[in-house]
Amino acid sequence: MRLKDKIAIVTGGADGLGAEMSKLFAREGATVIAADMKELTFEAENVEYFQLNVTDGEGCKKLFDYVMEKYGRIDILINNAGITRDAMTRKMTDEQWDLVIDVDLKSLFNLVRHVGPQMEAQGAGSIVNISSVVGEFGNIGQANYAAAKAGVIGLTKTWAKEFARKGAQVRVNCITPGHTFTNILKTVPQDVIDGLAAKTMLGRLGEPIEIANAALFLASDEASYITGHVLSVNGGMRL
Ligand code: NAD
Repeated sequence: MRLKDKIAIVTGGADGLGAEMSKLFAREGATVIAADMKELTFEAENVEYFQLNVTDGEGCKKLFDYVMEKYGRIDILINNAGITRDAMTRKMTDEQWDLVIDVDLKSLFNLVRHVGPQMEAQGAGSIVNISSVVGEFGNIGQANYAAAKAGVIGLTKTWAKEFARKGAQVRVNCITPGHTFTNILKTVPQDVIDGLAAKTMLGRLGEPIEIANAALFLASDEASYITGHVLSVNGGMRL
C-alpha cells in the first residue's frame, strides 16, 4: 500500500498508460480520479471517472474544484493525456501543430496553475509529467510532438523550482517513456515496431505496467528526495 489514503488525479486515465497507472495506484491504496475525454475502458475499485478535455481550461478548473470539494486535497497529479498527429514538417498543417501543442503541452499549464499552488499550500504533493523519448531525442515526422514533449521537460524543471521555493515538499518529476504497447502504436507498421525494438538495449518495446511502476515510484513517498528529475524508461533506447 505505497499510496495509502492518497488522492490522485490521472489525466488520460481511461486507456493506455493512464489506465495502467490508475489501476496500479488504486491497488496501492490511492483514491484515483481518472480524467479523460472518453469513458474508462476498465472497472476498478477506488477509481472514479471525470469527463474532461484537458485543452479546456475551464474544465480543468472544474476538475480541480470538484476534487477539492469532495476530498479537500490533492496529493498526486499525473499529467499523462497525450496524442500524436504526425507529418513531415513541410506537410504539417496548423491544425496538427496546434492540437498537439494544446493537448500535450498547454494542458499541463491548465491544471498545474491550480494544483501546484494548492500543493504548495498543503505543504506537500507530487506531480509526474509524462513526456517521451521523442522530447529528448527528436524524431522524424514529429516536430509538433517533439516540441510539446521537450516543453514538458522544461515545465517539470520550472515547477520543481517554483512550487518548492517556500519550503513546501512539492516534487515535480518527469518520465520519458520509450515506445510502449498502447493504442498510440496501433497504426505503426510491424516493420517499424521491429526497428524500434532493435534500437533498445533490451531488444523489445515496453509494457504499460513498466511505465506505471516508474510513475508509482515517483508519485510515492519513496521518492521523497527526488525532484526536477527526468526518468528515462525506455529499455536503453539509442535513437
Ligand atoms: P493512449 O492513446 O493509449 O491513451 C491516451 C489517453 O489520453 C486516452 O484515454 C485518451 O482518450 C486520452 N486523451 C487524449 N486526448 C485527451 C484530451 N484532450 N483530454 C483528455 N484526455 C485525452 O496513449 P498512451 O500510449 O497511453 O499515452 C499516454 C501518454 O504517454 C501520452 O502523453 C503519450 O504521449 C506518452 N507516451 C506514450 C508512449 C507509447 O509508446 N505508448 C511513448 C512515450 C510517451
